[in-house]
Amino acid sequence: MKKRIFKSMVLLASIVLVISTCGSLLIYYQFMTRQIESQIAQEGMCIAGAVNIIADEDNVLAYMRTYDTEKPMRLTLIQSDGSVVYDNFGDTAVMENHLARPEVIDAIEKGTGYCARFSDTIGKRNYYYAVRLDNGNILRLSYTTNSILLLGISVLPLFAVCFIICLVVGFIMAGRMTRNIIKPINNIDLQHPKKNFVYKELRPLLIRINRQNDERNKNEKMRQEFSANVSHELKTPLTSISGYAELLKDGIAAKEDVPKFAEKIYKEAGRMINLVNDIIKISKLDEHRIGIEKESVDLLKVALDVAERLEMVAENNRVKVNVGGYPVTVPAVSQMIDELIYNLCENAIKYNHPGGRVDVSITAANNRARIEVSDTGIGIPDQYKDRVFERFFRVDKSHSRQTGGTGLGLAIVKHIVEYHHGEIQLSSKLSEGTKIVVLLNTQ
Ligand code: ADP
Repeated sequence: MKKRIFKSMVLLASIVLVISTCGSLLIYYQFMTRQIESQIAQEGMCIAGAVNIIADEDNVLAYMRTYDTEKPMRLTLIQSDGSVVYDNFGDTAVMENHLARPEVIDAIEKGTGYCARFSDTIGKRNYYYAVRLDNGNILRLSYTTNSILLLGISVLPLFAVCFIICLVVGFIMAGRMTRNIIKPINNIDLQHPKKNFVYKELRPLLIRINRQNDERNKNEKMRQEFSANVSHELKTPLTSISGYAELLKDGIAAKEDVPKFAEKIYKEAGRMINLVNDIIKISKLDEHRIGIEKESVDLLKVALDVAERLEMVAENNRVKVNVGGYPVTVPAVSQMIDELIYNLCENAIKYNHPGGRVDVSITAANNRARIEVSDTGIGIPDQYKDRVFERFFRVDKSHSRQTGGTGLGLAIVKHIVEYHHGEIQLSSKLSEGTKIVVLLNTQ
């Protein structure tokens, strides 16, 4: 992080340095150009005024010679045909005709002319000002300065020094800034993220951590409750089995009681197998380990198959099961859908009155499949309607135990519905019956 901040700081400082150096250079150069322009124009007008008064050519040349090579300005007298009569910087004999020079053309046409151009010497720039004299000759003044490029090169050492200072300051500042930024982050109390008053930008992260903490705590609590329930549920049949087995082992049981006790052991063992199976199922669902592959599942076919498998149970409970509706397919995990319909139908049979009915109907509307299982059974009291989907919750423990219930059937159903992004509705009237509707997406 320190490296990153350092890099950004140096980059920023360098950009600022380059922009400000170039900017100031440009401003200075423009200012200097304007100064030179006005200076040579003023000086040119003064000399031209004097030359016009002197008028006599010899005297003019004598006056102009006073403007020697020591002066920073170059003075040139050009005749109207472009030939150079006098130049304080050069030999007029070798000088070319000046008639084509832009400042001379302008002076002939308009009276005065100005021009700036780069000189033959690299990095230099010449400024020219020309005035037409009364006798038609042209008086020209010129001034040479460094070009902006040369000016830029001349400030390079200063620029390098500033850059090194930037690097050093950047390094020190980056270290300090990183320490200051990191300190509150390192001090965050991750157990209570919402209680930390750090940067505003970190709020969403802390809210997310808080949510994850809540979820983890909730899951932890659920796991603990689940383990406690599982141990309790397993303990009851195991105690019975152990008790009856002990009677049999010690020979205390009367001979005629032996088959009865064996039957009890068998029943309790069966209950334990059911319980362990349900625990395995719900654990798999919790971890999404059940066949994740979704396929096209025909709900009516599954319902008919379940009804057939439960025929014996229904007969034993003297309950009639009727499956209706029409074929509806949904994209689903077939094993889960089978489990769902089986649990609903089994409950509807188990918690029914002798001579009662169970109606299973499969229909669809508005892209949603509807599985409806209604019975004419004992019903669920209003205060428990929501709780029946909780793990190990049973309205009547002893009745559920008698019928081999584990208290996990509807929790498994709820899990399966959630897995398929479906919806579950329950309506029930005590002593009249229960209706459970599951809605699943058909696409
Ligand atoms: P169980 O294995 O005990 O049947 P479930 O999770 O399937 O467990 O159901 C939880 C409780 O909800 C049951 O013990 C029972 O009290 C009640 N219940 C479920 N289905 C019905 C129903 N169709 N009619 C009446 N009560 C029901």
